[in-house]
Amino acid sequence: MTKDSKQVKPGLYVTATPIGNLGDVTYRAIETMKTADLILCEDTRQTAKLCAAYQVTTPRQAYHDHNATQARPGILKKLQDGQTICLVSDAGTPLIADPGYKLVREARRAGVDVFPLPGPSAVTAALSAAGASTDRFTFAGFPPPKKAARETFMRDFSSTPGTLVFYETGPRLADCLAAMARAFGDGRACVVARELTKIHEEFREGDLASLHAHYAQTPAKGEIVILVFPGETTQSTPEDVDAFLTNALSDMTVKDAARAAADALGVSRKEAYERALALRKA
Ligand code: SAM
Repeated sequence: MTKDSKQVKPGLYVTATPIGNLGDVTYRAIETMKTADLILCEDTRQTAKLCAAYQVTTPRQAYHDHNATQARPGILKKLQDGQTICLVSDAGTPLIADPGYKLVREARRAGVDVFPLPGPSAVTAALSAAGASTDRFTFAGFPPPKKAARETFMRDFSSTPGTLVFYETGPRLADCLAAMARAFGDGRACVVARELTKIHEEFREGDLASLHAHYAQTPAKGEIVILVFPGETTQSTPEDVDAFLTNALSDMTVKDAARAAADALGVSRKEAYERALALRKA
């Protein structure tokens, strides 16, 4: 297919690219990038490697968090003029913990056709090979880097059913697993999926306490997806309730802590409130 043949419809193509292994790009993604008038890149140098590997010579323009507001009107004008534009991120599927949703939303509202070009994403790659149940999962994205915000963030997921999927970086992995152990319990099963599709790809399964101990001892390198398996629905003991409430009361009101405990542990709100009140007064 050549640029002149224009076999693709004009519009915005949200184009997935590899998360490590360059062979994972789809045929359609390459053909569309070759045919497009422009490729919007999170980082043009990163996309240059993919383009060089597949002889894509289409002009590239940066589109990232720092220039998106200024760049968007010009891009929308080109799309309304009938151009074909690909949006790519550094790796994986754009908009999944990556820039682009405002461009997609505004393009749609301006009557421009927006097409997904599906392909790699770390969330689906990890889910497909970790052995966690996948009939119901929640993608939680990146946990906040600061400790207090991360504790609250994890607690918010403590009663979420199904598998939980998080993105994380190597330097923060051990602290993140420690926060998860406090929110979900030491014994909750988990997989750390690292460097997917790359030479050092690794899936490490264990409970949160043992994985924390491992990565506190052996800091992880590279890119990481954490999958927390669904919790067992067991009866909570009064000690479980007290431990949860004591932790929650460090930065929550009695009412909010009681609600969080009730949701997480399946106890009644009244019971949790009375116990939280007693712990606060103690
Ligand atoms: N848009 C991408 C996607 O579809 O997966 C995600 C972009 S986000 C900025 C980058 C994060 O994705 C990394 O910090 C890591 O948590 C995860 N990630 C990306 N590539 C990965 C890989 N090869 N192995 C494990 N995790 C990866």
